[in-house]
Parts: sequence; structure tokens; C-alpha cells
Amino acid sequence: MINSRGEILSFNKAATQIFGYQPEEVMGLNVNMLMPEPYHSEHGAYIHNYLETGSRKVIGIGREVSGRRKSGEVFPMELGVNDMIVGEKRVFVGIIRDMTAQKNAENALRGESLRLLAIMNAAPGGIMTVDITGTITSVNTSLLKIFDYEESELIGQKIEVLIPEQYLSKHQQDMSQYMLAGGARQMALGRDVVGKRKDGSVVPLEIGLSKTKLPDGKMQVIAAVQDCSLRKSLESQRERLIQKLAESNTKLERFAYIASHDMLEPIRMITNFSALIKSDYESLLDEEGKEYLDVVINSGGRLKDMVDDLLAYSRLESDNTQMRDFDGQELVSGLLGNLRRLIEERGVEITCDQFPTLYGNPVQLLRLLQNLVANGIKYQPENNVPRIHMGIQDQGDVWQLSVTDNGMGIKPEYLEQVFEPFRRLHSWDQIQGVGLGLSICKKIAENHSGRIWATSTPGRGSVFAFTIRKYALTNQ
Ligand code: ADP
Repeated sequence: MINSRGEILSFNKAATQIFGYQPEEVMGLNVNMLMPEPYHSEHGAYIHNYLETGSRKVIGIGREVSGRRKSGEVFPMELGVNDMIVGEKRVFVGIIRDMTAQKNAENALRGESLRLLAIMNAAPGGIMTVDITGTITSVNTSLLKIFDYEESELIGQKIEVLIPEQYLSKHQQDMSQYMLAGGARQMALGRDVVGKRKDGSVVPLEIGLSKTKLPDGKMQVIAAVQDCSLRKSLESQRERLIQKLAESNTKLERFAYIASHDMLEPIRMITNFSALIKSDYESLLDEEGKEYLDVVINSGGRLKDMVDDLLAYSRLESDNTQMRDFDGQELVSGLLGNLRRLIEERGVEITCDQFPTLYGNPVQLLRLLQNLVANGIKYQPENNVPRIHMGIQDQGDVWQLSVTDNGMGIKPEYLEQVFEPFRRLHSWDQIQGVGLGLSICKKIAENHSGRIWATSTPGRGSVFAFTIRKYALTNQ
């Protein structure tokens, strides 16, 4: 309580607690000691003005102002003042409430909502909240970008503005079901969900939904929205490319097949008729003529080998119906039977690991292994006794098979090239061959989900190794 000169007449216990002064420290002193600037200097004028004009700033109204404690700390307080006449003297009674705690709580809350807003706006995906009536209550910057709206155009709108007409009824069903059910939900997993932009265009989306109960007990749905247009267009671009590639591969293979198949007949004519000329008319030819005829016969033979291999290569479809379990030892004995003459002629020393049951196309795998062994025998320095070892190693999901030789070896820079079609490191006159053998091997290994590679020490020998999977793929 103060008098009209602003002197403190009484100071209760609560005031002591708030300001930190004992009553005896303040009694009779001007109340402006409890106020920071500008109130401190202006207070006298307030009272004077009220007494003169009756105009009220605080009196009878109540106001939020600042106070100053004994420690000098300035704090927010709510001040209510009433004036009354006591013994013909006018006094003012101030009722004070310390607002520090409430202000702190308010500031913390404001800080928290600013922090949340900053997080929301920093998120690369769209985020919005929708209340129980389907009204949009907040949106972040990314969401505005996805739908191309301004914030003020969306807040307070129904969620339906973002949904293309043809999906509206489905959306309403989904939404009411969702509000009844519990938990978070991911929309558009394996299913296309689309949204509608401001200009009416459609945007593919992925949406994650979750619900929270607000302090007032009402439900709020939080939707995290991802724009999938870029991903979708990349996906379809990739699919188109893969399809194109597959088509062009099939076309190429068909072309190679048809070309080589159709070539076989004229080639057969050349080889048959040149053989006939040799047997029936050779005596009529002079030495030069005989030499020319031999060139024709040899070239015809080479051409036939090439076309045969080309045909074999283009026929090598990965045919899963031919895949089965079979005894690996059959592979070995088949190979030894097929190459018996070559092995005997060249005095090859050939050894072999015990082969277990294998899974695959036995005809193709025999061809693969046989090509590698035949190469090991073929690419040898003169007068070398070829030594070949066929090995097998268990590598978990796959078997690794290998053919090791003591032949001429391959320079490191050619180790990969030898698997390319028609890539030969020797001229035909040196060592005969078409140059498709290892390409065929590679295709067969790939048909078995495997790979093939070579390691070599030139002059010492090479190891050709390949893998094949042990079991059928389950998703076939
Ligand atoms: P081809 O034997 O019909 O020439 P391949 O595709 O089987 O065709 O082999 C390609 C080339 O790789 C051969 O020309 C040869 O130079 C080289 N090569 C293949 N196997 C061996 C081997 N075991 N040792 C050394 N060189 C090899």
C-alpha cells in the first residue's frame, strides 16, 4: 500500500518473498525503488496524472509490468492497483503476482515449437498434420513444394484438395478405417498412391501416417509425404532400357543363329564338292591346281568349324528345364571318353579330384570342362608332355571347378580378353581354333549363375576356374 506521494505504507509477507526486502527496509520509501526503468523514473508522473485527470493505466485494470528485486533482478509481474480513501487520505493498494515461472514456461514452449517448426521445415520430405475432421492444421516447406501451394492456401483446407477426384471415395473409406484402427501405417507400399497439385496435375507419392492424441483429447494425424515422381521416372526409364537391351540381345542371337544355320548348307556344298573334285579329278590338275584345291578344302573346313561354333554359341540359352542333380563323376568319364584320342596321341597325364553330385545342365557343363581341358592340351610348347588336373572345391553356396595345365600360359594383359568371342592369341597356322571356345565356356558358367576367370604364369601354365551354384534358385 502506498500513499499519493508514492511512499510505501505497508508491505506484506508475500511482497517480502517476491522483492526480497524486509518491510522495515522499504517502509516510507518511494515505491519506484521496486521498479526498473522506465517505470522507476516515470512512476511519480503516473500517480500525478491519475490524480489530475483520472486517466487510468493500471488502476482498477491490472497490467503486466516489470519489477525489480533487492538483488537487482528484473522480473515480469502482474500488477493490479486499486485506490481507496483511508481516513480522508487516498491510498493505493497494489496486488502483485510474480510471473517469472509462467513466463519461463511460456518461453520454453515457444522455443520448443520454434524448434519443431525448424525441424519440420528442414525435413526433405513433406510433412503435414490433419485434425479429426480432415482439416489441414500444419504443413512444412517440402510439402508446399510437392503440391505447389502457399502455406496460407492449405491451412484450414480439407485434405481432399490434395487428392485427385477419382481417388476421393477410396480415400474417405481408408481414412475412416485408419482413424478407427491403431498404430502407424505406411501407404503406397507396393501400391501407387497419387496426390493432386495446385494446377490439377497428379504426383506419385509414398505416404507414412501416424496418429497422436492432443492435450485437448482430440486426435491428430501426421502424414509424411514423399514425392516419388523422380524415382518412378528413373525406374521406368531403367525398365525400358533393360527391355531394349534384352530385345536387342535376342535379336542378335537370333540373327547369329539364322545366319550361321543358313550358311551351313552352302558351306557343306563347298566342302563336299571340293572333296569330290579331289577324289575324281585330282589327276587332271597340275601341281599349282592341286595346291589351290587344298586351300579351298582347308578353308571350307575352317569355315564349317566357325559356323558350327557360332551356332553352338547362339543356341546356348539358359534353359532352366535342363537343370538337374547329376553325378559329377559322369562328367569326368564323359570328358575322358570324348578326348581319349587326343589324350592318347599327346600322351597327356591327366588327374582329377573326386567329383560329388552337382546341380546344373550336364550337357553344357561337359562342354565347358571339355573346352578347358582341350585348350590345356592344345596350348602347349612343342615337345612338352601336357599335365592337366581337374579340381573341385566346396565354396559354400557354389562349387568352384578348375582346370590346371602346364602349358604356354597367357600374358596378364590377355587374361580377360580371351573370354571375348573370336579373340585368339595365336594365328590359325600356329594353333588351329575358332576363338569361340572360351566365350561358350563363359556363357555356360553364367547360365549356372557362376563366373569364369583365368590365372597364369607365362611359360609355366594356366589355371581356368569357374563357379556353379549348388542348388536350384528357389524363385524359379
Ligand atoms: P580357340 O581355342 O578356338 O582359339 P578359345 O576361346 O578357346 O578359342 O581361346 C581363346 C584364346 O585363349 C586362344 O586362342 C588361346 O590363345 C588362349 N588360350 C585358351 N586357353 C589357353 C590355355 N590353356 N593356355 C594358353 N592359352 C590359352
